[in-house]
Amino acid sequence: MLSSKIVETTDDYVMLSALQHFVYCPRQFALIHLEQVWQENIYTLRGLRVHERVDTPSHELIAGVRVERSLALISHSHQLRGIADVVEFLADGTPYPVEYKAGSRKAKDADAVQLCAQAMCLEEMFDRPVTTGALFYSASKRRRVVEFDLRIRSLVTATVQAVQATLQTQIMPQPVADARCDDCSLSEACVPQSLKKFPQLWDAQAAFRIDEI
Ligand code: SF4
Repeated sequence: MLSSKIVETTDDYVMLSALQHFVYCPRQFALIHLEQVWQENIYTLRGLRVHERVDTPSHELIAGVRVERSLALISHSHQLRGIADVVEFLADGTPYPVEYKAGSRKAKDADAVQLCAQAMCLEEMFDRPVTTGALFYSASKRRRVVEFDLRIRSLVTATVQAVQATLQTQIMPQPVADARCDDCSLSEACVPQSLKKFPQLWDAQAAFRIDEI
């Protein structure tokens, strides 16, 4: 049995994937989750490919380790919900989340925050500490082990609050307009350089709330 606790869905809870978007770029998060903008690029298509196997709920036993794919997660105390790509259950029953990512290891914390948030859900669901997990990058085909220390846990909590505040105010964050935009599929809709170059456009945009359009 996975858990004796009932997994409920709660619409106000923050999606695990939204944390990744927000830490990567708050404006990317807002475009996706407030304006429902989505565009594919080579990186998102690669991501779809990488997730093909793990997006179907299934479980199997591999070398004595139970492996669950596409596992629904929730944390009521942290107000989080979402899906884990893979959760391996160690011999003593401790969950070990593994998140699949297209491309190579990112310098930023975005992927680690998403993984740590999964661990925080698993801790609540299975009543036991989850101290490590792994990010699997398709480019290197290697796992990067992530320790869920106080810093990354605090970043999860702060990001949940920032996401909820953005959803409440519905004010579009400023574009980061840096190297992150080169990999971002939303650059056409976002026009980050123009908004940086012509701050009056940014001021005009920040002046209205999305629900007033
Ligand atoms: S193009 Fe840049 S500023 Fe705009 S959403 Fe993407 S990363 Fe953020």
